[in-house]
Amino acid sequence: MRDLIIIGAGPAGLAAALYATLKRLDCLVISRDLGGKSNYSVHIPDSDGPAAIRADELVTIYKSRLQYLRHSHRIAGVKRLTASGGTFSCTVDDGSTEEARAVIVATGTHLRRLGVPGEKQLLSRGLGYSSISYSHLFTGKRVFLAGDSDRVLDSTLELSIHADAVTTALLAGGRFTGDLVARARDLDRVTIVEEATVREFRGDDFAREVVLASEAGDQTIAADGFFVELDPQPNTGFIGDGISLAGNGSLRVDGTNSTDVPGLFAAGDVTGNEYAQTLVSLGDGAKAALSAYRYLIETGRTKE
Ligand SMILES: Cc1cc2nc3c(=O)[nH]c(=O)nc-3n(C[C@H](O)[C@H](O)[C@H](O)COP(=O)(O)OP(=O)(O)OC[C@H]3O[C@@H](n4cnc5c(N)ncnc54)[C@H](O)[C@@H]3O)c2cc1C
Repeated sequence: MRDLIIIGAGPAGLAAALYATLKRLDCLVISRDLGGKSNYSVHIPDSDGPAAIRADELVTIYKSRLQYLRHSHRIAGVKRLTASGGTFSCTVDDGSTEEARAVIVATGTHLRRLGVPGEKQLLSRGLGYSSISYSHLFTGKRVFLAGDSDRVLDSTLELSIHADAVTTALLAGGRFTGDLVARARDLDRVTIVEEATVREFRGDDFAREVVLASEAGDQTIAADGFFVELDPQPNTGFIGDGISLAGNGSLRVDGTNSTDVPGLFAAGDVTGNEYAQTLVSLGDGAKAALSAYRYLIETGRTKE
């Protein structure tokens, strides 16, 4: 049995792996890929410049360290994680099992899509799923947002500081806080379209316009950037009985990235953190690994 299994090797899992290796833990990383969502970035027409800090370059360094340690990881999916008597068991896609005294879950989230024409083709080319990393690039530009929760209104308030024009589609069937809608509607450069349905994204090399249906009829809106701000879904479908999840499917952690199950830790987007960012996940992964290390020492469970 190992000391530690880390499930997922995005920024959170990679940082956790680095710390676990430094602490000489007998650790195995099981992940469908290395790098996770940091392998993607959104390009905005005429806005791409050298970023002040390239978080993805840090991830690349961590990734190459793990690739070098060939026996430290398996490229595979975990389909079941169970806990019993202080031991964790992971069932991998090929049916094999791996056991450890502690586990860090760092499986991130997956994006919810609208499923409309043009969305898949224009992804990352002027069309993204979270404006948080990009709002500063919209100074003097036009941006379109669509969403079904207050998340899209928070982004609207932020983008209204930078952009010349923000059009926000509040999707039909969504749930929004009235005060937040009123605040956004009062802003000079913001147009709110209620009960909206996105029909299509159109473009060439980049997304250029969106066709939107609402009570006012169909309209075509041109913009420099487009964001579908639907709440992402935590990748926790493999979590077995005895491990509780929050209402939105995320794994609840405290300030040390510990869950309420002794020996189980979680890090990064899967914890439902407010700020889904590469640097935040890297820090989270480091904390989870240090907490797992402390747990293993305190419970006398380091490898003989
Ligand atoms: C298009 C796009 C652009 C972005 N741009 C930026 C940006 O510019 N700046 C920024 O700071 N942030 C950006 N982000 C956000 C950032 O990428 C995430 O916050 C970060 O990657 C989260 O790290 P994580 O390790 O928690 O999860 P993830 O990166 O999602 O990694 C999860 C890992 O778990 C693995 N996994 C999932 N399920 C299983 C399973 N059952 N078994 C085994 N492995 C599993 C996956 O293969 C993956 O390796 C962007 C996100 C997207 C989608």
